[in-house]
Amino acid sequence: MDWSDNPEQAAFRAEVQQVIRDGLPEHYQEIARQGGGMFEEGWQADRKSDDPSRRGAAEDWSRALAERGWVAPHWPKEYGGAGLSSWEQYIYKEELAKAAAPVVGGGGVSLLGPTLIVHGTDDQKEKYLPGILSGEVAWAQGYSEPGAGSDLAGLQTRAMRDGDEFVVNGQKIWTSGAQFADKLFALVRTDPDAPKHRGISFLLFDDIKSPGLTVRPLISMSWKHIFNETFFEDVRTSASNIVGEENRGWYVGMTLLDYERSSVDSAVNDRVSMEHLMEYVKTEEGAERSRLDIPSVRGDLAEAWIATEVAANLSLRVASMQGAGLIPNYEASMAAPARAGAASLPRFVGALGSRRGPFLRSMSVRTPRLRHECRRKSVFFPCRA
Ligand SMILES: Cc1cc2nc3c(=O)[nH]c(=O)nc-3n(C[C@H](O)[C@H](O)[C@H](O)COP(=O)(O)OP(=O)(O)OC[C@H]3O[C@@H](n4cnc5c(N)ncnc54)[C@H](O)[C@@H]3O)c2cc1C
Repeated sequence: MDWSDNPEQAAFRAEVQQVIRDGLPEHYQEIARQGGGMFEEGWQADRKSDDPSRRGAAEDWSRALAERGWVAPHWPKEYGGAGLSSWEQYIYKEELAKAAAPVVGGGGVSLLGPTLIVHGTDDQKEKYLPGILSGEVAWAQGYSEPGAGSDLAGLQTRAMRDGDEFVVNGQKIWTSGAQFADKLFALVRTDPDAPKHRGISFLLFDDIKSPGLTVRPLISMSWKHIFNETFFEDVRTSASNIVGEENRGWYVGMTLLDYERSSVDSAVNDRVSMEHLMEYVKTEEGAERSRLDIPSVRGDLAEAWIATEVAANLSLRVASMQGAGLIPNYEASMAAPARAGAASLPRFVGALGSRRGPFLRSMSVRTPRLRHECRRKSVFFPCRA
């Protein structure tokens, strides 16, 4: 397979590079110069920052991308996206990752928007898509519960109809970025007597600070505040905020998960981080610190590289299906664990951490991008060093 750009792709790549050169605010360029990778949390935190320069940088970058519909590169043009082909999306994400430029929009762009396009009413599309597209409104995802993770259909957060509203009680967990979000979408149980997949609805909450809705930080073992617990105590939301049919939200929720699993962002980021790592271990210092003279270390590194490439290629396959107007399903499910395997990258660093502490510490100091990767996939305890 020939992965090199054809002339149109090369021209598009040059256009993306130009937009990054012209539009990426100095704040992010400086972070890139220091070797730090910027990710959604960075942009989301910046747009809510008390520091006007950080807030301004986040707004300027959203605007620069929004001008071309590039906040939502994968959305159809008729909904205000860029309608980029799968290859163009890949190139776009790759160039952003290389420049350490943040993607903007968070879960609204990557998850909720495409789901509303498929399942939302015209009113919902009109009400919610513009705020996502302009990068002005960020959404958090309320799916998981303490007793409902892999077995998501076991969720117990209860929504009861009261006139034109639903009244919601219960708890969500692992709500990423809810501390920066403006709104929340959630799966809730609307019929406790129905078979478990049949009693669930997909609800939107217009204000994450609604009365009774409490977001509490959940600090990871790497001391990062990425996750939250979200509590609902008699929280009211309009009945018109249901997406799809009442009690059929499971299927709406699964469409969204197909988009979540298929995201190319992390695969592309992992690939760029892997390139950083490869460059570093090829230096005299890197080779010495990583003990590349030990065969098993070289084996670990090769394994990490292969897993990263597999994840990137599977994500590309999913993106190409989306580009063809198909909803990737089992393909997306395959891509997700592959990317978790590209957790192989932090796993590689983590494995070395348990075997060679000094190497890990040197990596942490010298490649902030890798340190960020480790923290992002914060289950990898050794990465804390
Ligand atoms: C980076 C990150 C961000 C996240 N952000 C969000 C978010 O914004 N919003 C949100 O709602 N959720 C979020 N999640 C939560 C995520 O969706 C859940 O972690 C996921 O659903 C798994 O649930 P759990 O963590 O409770 O694990 P569990 O379901 O408890 O599973 C733990 C382990 O047991 C295994 N296991 C479970 N059941 C079985 C079985 N029947 N047979 C064999 N093995 C089994 C699993 O494979 C896993 O290895 C996020 C997770 C991560 C890692």
